[in-house]
Amino acid sequence: MAKKENAFAGYDITTQAVHTGTDYDEGTGAVRRPLHMANSYKLPDDLSQVNYSSTDLLMYARNGNPNQHWLEEKVAALHGAEDAIVLGSGVAALHALFWTLLESGDRVVYPNVSYMAVYRMFHELFNRKFGVETVMVDMTDLEAVKKAITPGTKLVHIETPDNPTVGVTDIAAIAEIAHANGAILSVDNTFASPLNQRPLDLGADFVVEALTKFINGHGDAQGGAILSNDLETMDRIRYEAQVNVGSVISPFNAWQIFRGSVTFPLRMQRINETSLTVAKWLEQREHVTFVAYPGLESNPGYEVAKKQMQNGFGGVISFGLDTDDKTVERFCAQLKVITFAVSLGHDESLIFPQPSYDERIHLYPEKFRKGFLRFSLGLEDPKDIIDDLDQALKAVGL
Ligand SMILES: *Cc1c(COP(=O)(O)O)cnc(C)c1O
Repeated sequence: MAKKENAFAGYDITTQAVHTGTDYDEGTGAVRRPLHMANSYKLPDDLSQVNYSSTDLLMYARNGNPNQHWLEEKVAALHGAEDAIVLGSGVAALHALFWTLLESGDRVVYPNVSYMAVYRMFHELFNRKFGVETVMVDMTDLEAVKKAITPGTKLVHIETPDNPTVGVTDIAAIAEIAHANGAILSVDNTFASPLNQRPLDLGADFVVEALTKFINGHGDAQGGAILSNDLETMDRIRYEAQVNVGSVISPFNAWQIFRGSVTFPLRMQRINETSLTVAKWLEQREHVTFVAYPGLESNPGYEVAKKQMQNGFGGVISFGLDTDDKTVERFCAQLKVITFAVSLGHDESLIFPQPSYDERIHLYPEKFRKGFLRFSLGLEDPKDIIDDLDQALKAVGL
């Protein structure tokens, strides 16, 4: 697909978030992009040149629609990437990338802590269905990574900070090991967001963002993006995974996320600050057994995070309470400002317990196996968030 020049390249990310991908509407002169819900588009009179599996021509919604394309321009700008593909969810973007890159017999190295669907794809699905060799490794342990990434490894996939333990992986170091062995590196950047971390600048070949989270930021639309400077492979992803497998985004969701993304850098700045404040408060609160946040000096990933996260440390904290699963649930139910729900990166703070009976708990460091919560900070006043945590802790006797 022909890429549109980013006329705002070189401007600050806040300016690009406002201006890239937007323009006057040609038909009406409206200063907002319209929403095009059409499934099909008028065909050219001469059909001999039409390729029905391509995304070059607006023809059918699965081959692409204007709202998807405008959002692609915006998300590419946020990452300083040459190309972006926006699909129907973060998982659709991850799957599209893996599906396109991998063949039977290929070897993949993936992290012991990752988004649940990545674990499912590599622990269960790609190996069983397609004979892909999948090797799990602790990505924070570079010696173990060096052993796992053998020559001929096709893909190394990492996530940093990771979901749900908020562990930090050294992107540049892993890129070096991967490339020395001829492997491709993909990075799930959802927890960091492009304000804080741009893996393509650190040597990654592909980046995935769940747009559902901080970039949309309002908890009302699902979408995902793949970012890369490898234009040839990106076109293969369009052909093999978008048009012919079909994980497209609805134009309405693309329109919603486009709108949310305009304020993304400002929201993220605020969320970075609130998260650090709340993490520091949690760290000194009685009955809190640990706080995992890359911005805390006590965090084992702090030095790496400082090196690769330029504007802040993101909006997710994980922490432990010195109590059992039942009391953790009662604590969540007592919260008034913070919402007891899955997901992250919304305008409201969200909290979600990771119970001791979770199937993957044995993969996490020891301290995460009791009273563990994943906490996504929102846009509320930091003091109101802290007071809410404190009153709910007291309400359950902690
Ligand atoms: C939420 C999330 C995803 C998946 O995004 P969806 O839009 O829910 O499919 C992928 N990776 C990470 C790290 C996430 O937090």
